Amino acid sequence: MTTSSDSRRGTDTKLGHLGREPQRFDGAVNPPVYHVSTVLAPDLDTYEAGGRRRYEHGEMVYGRYGTPTHHALESALSELEGAADTVILPSGLAAITCALFAVVRTGDHVLVTDSAYGPTRGFCTGLLQRMGVSTTFYDPTIDPEGLAALIRPETKAMVLEAPGSMTFEVQDVPALAQRAKAAGLCVLMDNTWATPLFFQPIAHGVDLSIQAATKYIVGHADAMLGAVSASDAWARTLRSTMYELGMSAGPDDVYLGMRGLRTLGVRLRQHWRNALTVAEWLRDRPEVAQVLYPALPDAPGHEVWKRDFAGASGLFGVVLAEPYSRDAIAAMLDGMSLFGIGSSWGGYESLMIACYPEKARTATTWDAPGPLLRLHIGLEDPADLIADLEAGFARLTAGG
Ligand SMILES: *Cc1c(COP(=O)(O)O)cnc(C)c1O
Repeated sequence: MTTSSDSRRGTDTKLGHLGREPQRFDGAVNPPVYHVSTVLAPDLDTYEAGGRRRYEHGEMVYGRYGTPTHHALESALSELEGAADTVILPSGLAAITCALFAVVRTGDHVLVTDSAYGPTRGFCTGLLQRMGVSTTFYDPTIDPEGLAALIRPETKAMVLEAPGSMTFEVQDVPALAQRAKAAGLCVLMDNTWATPLFFQPIAHGVDLSIQAATKYIVGHADAMLGAVSASDAWARTLRSTMYELGMSAGPDDVYLGMRGLRTLGVRLRQHWRNALTVAEWLRDRPEVAQVLYPALPDAPGHEVWKRDFAGASGLFGVVLAEPYSRDAIAAMLDGMSLFGIGSSWGGYESLMIACYPEKARTATTWDAPGPLLRLHIGLEDPADLIADLEAGFARLTAGG
């Protein structure tokens, strides 16, 4: 599959070729979908060696340990992430919980950004708490000294998410990771917003890089999938944890992830271009106080984004300029003709929801002149999206 000379190729070339082995599959361009639980061994010796062989990449031992369909996506993501290994999980949240389970034991303490994805918080304050693992949420814009002050003898891990998927703070990943690593912590990062195309966590000091592949990798709002890519030091523990948890993704969904990956480069560049066009238009609107899109020069975190990221995806926040009523917000959203109201993002289509960070945070406060909307800018023509938003603002200001 991947050879060292492949590593020097451009990202789009890699996206077109990683994980493919046509000679192995009768010439088929795409690795086929294997529907399999039992894998028959040729003899008893081979069968009994299965426990060891499930760690040897590419070996198919039992359905739960992965098929060639899984191995294709795992090897492609490992190459893109610069990782020693990648495991595929049945959802982005499963990727987060599997990564944390790989690291913590009872009595440990973890540091989690206050801007974390809601269900990440829920896992920390729910199941992890019940297992005797405590969590301190920290200000996403904390500096390394501030972080150091939160580290206790039992602190085991730090979770980053940059930018936060609701409030879009861009964390200084290299500085925070370096400080955390100096204290012996395992550094985890939710990299769903940027994907490995626009940010490379492992090269910036992260140990476990997490993708909700449901979003941009699948890219078509039709499958749930997650992935965790590990540095050398964590690869074996991550894989054995995934095996112990039995969290295997179905082969059809993995196939959709592989298929989405092929076009990730072109899609992301278009999401970026469209999002920038819409964000610039929004910034100049009287109904808008601030657009939280790190690619905008006046947005919070722009400098760090420019330093560390290779691009911006299609998701951003819009802080409204006045405390518009819930009825007015509902009138705006309910009447949109192109923007759908729904969870998730990263598909080809545009979405819009209202967010309430003030209800989610514990380490920081959220002060804004008006409600926060979260927009996902899809691959539609930006002029049509802008017209939809313009009509939406008319409903908003009419008061609903
Ligand atoms: C959606 C999302 C997840 C969870 O992914 P699922 O596949 O929905 O479980 C995790 N992190 C971020 C930032 C997300 O937006």
